[in-house]
Amino acid sequence: MNETENRLNLQSQVIYGPVKSRRLGKSLGLNLSPKEIKLCSLNCSYCQYSWTGLLVRDAKPFINLLPSVDEVINEFKEKLKGILDNNQEVNFITFSGNGEPTLHPDFLKIVEAIIKIRDKFLKDAKIACLSNSTTLGNKDVLKAMKMIDEPIMKFDTAIKETFLKLNRPSVKIEFEEIKNNLKKLDGKMTIQTLFIEGSVDNTSNEELRSYINSLRSLKPRLVQIYSLDRLPADKNLIKVSKQKLNEIKKKIEMEVNLKVVVY
Ligand code: SF4
Repeated sequence: MNETENRLNLQSQVIYGPVKSRRLGKSLGLNLSPKEIKLCSLNCSYCQYSWTGLLVRDAKPFINLLPSVDEVINEFKEKLKGILDNNQEVNFITFSGNGEPTLHPDFLKIVEAIIKIRDKFLKDAKIACLSNSTTLGNKDVLKAMKMIDEPIMKFDTAIKETFLKLNRPSVKIEFEEIKNNLKKLDGKMTIQTLFIEGSVDNTSNEELRSYINSLRSLKPRLVQIYSLDRLPADKNLIKVSKQKLNEIKKKIEMEVNLKVVVY
């Protein structure tokens, strides 16, 4: 079996892990999406959870499927008790899970509460959020992201046509808004980019030229680049080799003064 022939199962819990993460070490995951249904504003053709079950711009109509603030906090405290009792290591507390965590209508309240608990009981752990960057126009989400230690923001292409094919947004998402809203983080973020070939390709010279131009204006603290690790939703996508990812890294670093890490 090759390494992309496995697909990640959707999370059935609100709090999961700590799991060993390629990018975050020992990561304690928070799933603010429904259990076992993917709720997201994008429908990325490479998604490791397959196609999006609930493709939405606004999650309020699905509030009954989402964990409440109390549920998240209580389950987090319960999990934390086990972690502290067993002296388990946690490097990151990560908002991730079955889709886009920032779509949760109470995302800000949850972030504020988790930061308070972290400060008291798990001082060494940082807080991260893996986000698809579509919700920064919401002032509460922007405020929460500014409070988070490591906002890890998706940005796969600077070309609208490629974005539409690769990230397949819910209808109301404007690509230009995503780019402009990312600037509101004032560079205090990591940009995460998945490179892919096959039915969609974001590795051409034209792609890289505009992508690097956007990085120049976004000025992230770090750029993480990678390719498929698991079976994608669209099976006609082809994994980009490590060698090519390293060439892309060199190209970025030659043109802009940014730190780039290949995973
Ligand atoms: S944004 Fe993330 S969770 Fe949503 S479809 Fe894309 S890869 Fe999957």
